[in-house]
Parts: sequence; C-alpha cells; structure tokens
Amino acid sequence: MLTTTSIPFLDVRGITDLVREDLDLCWERVLADGRFIGGPEVETFEARFAEYCGTEHCVGVANGTDALELILAALDIGPGDEVIVPANTFVATVEAVCAVGARPRFVDVRADTLEVDPDAVAAAIGPRTAAVMAVHLFGQMVDLDRLVPLVRRHGIALVEDAAQAHGARFGGRRAGSVGVAAAFSFYPGKNLGALGDGGAVVSDDAALVTRIRQLANHGRANQGHHLHELRGRNSRLDTLQAALLTAKLRRLDEDNARRRSLMQRYRERLPVGCVSVAQHPRAESVHHLAVVQVPDRAAATAALDAAGIGWGLHYPVPCHRQPAFAEFAEDRLPVTENAAERILSLPMSPTLTVAQVDRVSDVLSRAAGP
Ligand SMILES: *Cc1c(COP(=O)(O)O)cnc(C)c1O
Repeated sequence: MLTTTSIPFLDVRGITDLVREDLDLCWERVLADGRFIGGPEVETFEARFAEYCGTEHCVGVANGTDALELILAALDIGPGDEVIVPANTFVATVEAVCAVGARPRFVDVRADTLEVDPDAVAAAIGPRTAAVMAVHLFGQMVDLDRLVPLVRRHGIALVEDAAQAHGARFGGRRAGSVGVAAAFSFYPGKNLGALGDGGAVVSDDAALVTRIRQLANHGRANQGHHLHELRGRNSRLDTLQAALLTAKLRRLDEDNARRRSLMQRYRERLPVGCVSVAQHPRAESVHHLAVVQVPDRAAATAALDAAGIGWGLHYPVPCHRQPAFAEFAEDRLPVTENAAERILSLPMSPTLTVAQVDRVSDVLSRAAGP
C-alpha cells in the first residue's frame, strides 16, 4: 500500500523531477534539430563523460551489457579464452563473457566488501586467462592496490564493469580510468541514468576505442558510410539520450555526495546486527546501493513491508548458481553463497531525506528486538 509515509527503494521519478526543466530543453532542442542518431549531442556527451572519468576517449553505446561485450570483442577475447568474474555481480557481467564465446571463471568475493577477492583471482589465473572483470559493485571500486599489480604481472587485461560506479574513486583515480577499458550503464536506476537504456565505453586506448566505435556501428570504416570493414552490429547511444545525459551529468557529483552523507547516516543509525558493506580506506564509494547484511532477513523484510518501505536484493542467487550458467558452475564459493542469504538493499536515492533514513533504521531496530 502506498501512503504518504511510504519510502520507495529507488525514486526515479523524484530524480527526474530534479532536472525536469533541463530535460525539457534537451527534448525541444533535439526535436527542433531533427537528428536522432549521432550528431553533436552524442559527441558532446562523449567528450564530457571522458573528461569526467579522466580518460582520453568515450564511445556511447546502447547499454552497459553491450559496452562490456564490445570491449571483450575488440580485445579479441573469444572461444578458448577464460575471463575471471566475481560470482557476486549482476548477470550482465557474465552474459558479456558468454556472448563473445569465452568461458566465465567464477571466483569468490571478500566477506567485508562483497567485492572480488584478489587472492581468489590470483588462484584462478591460468594459461587461458585473458581478462579479469573488475566489477565496482554497489558503487565502490575494487581493491586496485592488489588487483592492478596482479594483472600486470600476468599480462592479462583488466576490464572495469563500472555500471554501478559513475564517479567513484580509489586513491584519487576515477572509475573507468584504470583498466584497459571500462563499461558504464545508463539504465535509469544507475547513478547517472538515461530516460531509457544507454551505455558507454571509456578508455585511453585510441585503437581499441576506434574498433569499438566501428563494431557498434555496423562495422563501418571511419572513411565511408558504405564500407563495412568489420562484422559489426547496431549498438549506439541515441541522440536524445546523449543530450539528456549531458544535462544530468552536471548534477552527478552533487547527487553522489548526497548518497554518501545518507549512507553515513545509515551507519550511525542502523542497529548493531545490521552491518553495512565495508569500505576500503582508499575507496570513495558513490553508494549506488545501500547494502547491509542482516541475521534474519525474513523478519527485516516483513517489518519493512509492513512500514511501506521498499527494499531489494543484490543478488540473492549468485551467478555460479544461475541455471543459465550451469555449464560453468563452480563447486562452492562459500563467501558469496553465505552473503546471498543475508544481504539486503535499503532505500537509496539522492532525493531520500535524513528523516526517511532514520525511519528505515528505526523500523529495522524494532524488528531486531531489544
Ligand atoms: C546494470 C549493470 C550492467 C548492465 O547494464 P545495462 O545497461 O542494464 O545493460 C552490468 N553490470 C553491472 C554490475 C550492472 O549493475
């Protein structure tokens, strides 16, 4: 039941309202121009987003899953190759690996951050390993101090899945600026969301980016519309979405700062048994999701439901336990499996108020008992 006291898990409507006037202007501008694929609006967004991420290049694509797949394809990763993926991620990370014909090699995560465990990565590296998917989960970048030297030593590619980490930093470096290339998603619920699907690849590697741009545009050679050098596909960022994203990008840092202070408030107010995901001291998370671990999830979610508070689960069925990936199943990844039973995502949006965070915390405190 929706009442005035209900709290949405994610307030996409409210987030859109924050920039409503800017979005109306974009819409008018694009309609008046009459160009809906490519053009200066896309070029502007690509330039601004590359600058934001601290990379040389950006290419807009249709969604984050395509961004991941196009990176792997442009790196010539395919059949016979293995790509190391944390089992605790959204399935899209794995779909991209499978789509190019490579084999996902699932590894466990750390119990505190729930992000890929560098020791598990080290143990999984073998002769067929072509890349490691660095998934910056929940808004926090992975432990670069440990992962970067590891992949360098073995000469394998670090591909960033930054779909949940627009603007995150680790030791001053922005998400997207660390790997050979990074994939972003602009799904409406992400920290930077379009009004529909969208995605981007950022990288410093000009040749790689050119190849991705070609692959995403029917393999067209840069010299000619009718010359198809590669077997490509259609995966472009729409002109309208690019215009809207340029407008929304201006607010991103402010929104991320707001998320950070809300998360801080959660930490101060949540009951002791409700443990939020640990932060690496060098990581500056953008808190895409407010994930906690609770001992009795059924009791917690029942209390939230009764109070009209939205919640989510990221992710209750680990990727190595998904029927779609049964072929690649690992025996046991105990940390991921244990966390899957205990994780709970609490409301998080830049429009959330401190009073709402306090109410969520109070409801969880009462559910946890005296
Ligand atoms: C959202 C997401 C993706 C996929 O992005 P889409 O734009 O929905 O295709 C990939 N990886 C992670 C970790 C995500 O959260």
